[in-house]
Amino acid sequence: MNFGYREVCLDHDTGPRHPESPDRLRAIRRALKEHHSVEYVAANDADIDLVRAVHDPDYISEFREFCDDGGGNWDADTVAVEETWDAALASAGLSVWAAKAALDGNAGRDTPFALGRPPGHHAVGDDAMGFCFINNAAVAAQAALEADAERVAIFDWDVHHGNGTQDIFYDRSDVFYASIHEDGLYPGTGDIAETGADDADGTNLNVKYKPGADTADYLAAIDECIAPAIRDYAPDLLLISAGFDAHEHDPISRMRVSTEGYGAMTDRMRSLADTCGAALGFVLEGGYGLDTLADSITTVHEVFDGYQPMEPDDDVSDDARDVLDELAAQGFGSK
Ligand SMILES: [Zn+2]
Repeated sequence: MNFGYREVCLDHDTGPRHPESPDRLRAIRRALKEHHSVEYVAANDADIDLVRAVHDPDYISEFREFCDDGGGNWDADTVAVEETWDAALASAGLSVWAAKAALDGNAGRDTPFALGRPPGHHAVGDDAMGFCFINNAAVAAQAALEADAERVAIFDWDVHHGNGTQDIFYDRSDVFYASIHEDGLYPGTGDIAETGADDADGTNLNVKYKPGADTADYLAAIDECIAPAIRDYAPDLLLISAGFDAHEHDPISRMRVSTEGYGAMTDRMRSLADTCGAALGFVLEGGYGLDTLADSITTVHEVFDGYQPMEPDDDVSDDARDVLDELAAQGFGSK
């Protein structure tokens, strides 16, 4: 794969014991060193007007001043230092690069993956939260739409609901947002009944699973619900908000997706993009077990290098089946 990366993203220092640390990127890069066909790209900062197109300009000014004044705690978990502004603009810029590189035809072994931090999917239109300041995937989607894409789909497999991405595009039909997330985790949003507002009704899809959902449950959500919905939507670009905190060994969730499971989901996304004739790009979100994060991203990379991931043997759980039935009743589902 082609990985977007910039050293300045390490300068966003969240302090000791914060799970969203620069060590996450270091662990990923260390693991990727052992693999072939890894290319790094240092993209430009995101254009500030593009950031302002998805965020309230007053909020962006406030965030910049907060960093200029030395940073601090924006809220209990969302921490900035002076360098966070530069890291956030770089992180958003890497996502824009991923979207544009995909649209320019980078595919197969050249599929783009933006390895930025701070992450983005909790950042709402007018506020930072949940370790996120600028919504990287949203800025990338906006960049694609301002280039030559008419419709963008974002699939968010981070264990948390991407409330920010949903918020930004909830009443816009030019972006389809789909998420699988754990019920009861931060930030508590992402109900199945949240399907989009006004003309955008039907362009927001929340698979809210109970704790303990495993790879088979995730793949069933994709096969029965998310992939058919995205096929119908026919996007020009499919962006993956790729968090790895649903991993069975991640310290902050109770989901049970395996490393192979991330490979299997990647394979599904590659096929889905092919079927839609859509470009495909990845944007890093969460993932807090350093080894599992690094192993999972390595597996994503390997899938684009020819590796065929194993399919799980287990059946879909009853809890997951109930959620998929409920989604089918909302009009999302192939059954
Ligand atoms: Zn997360």
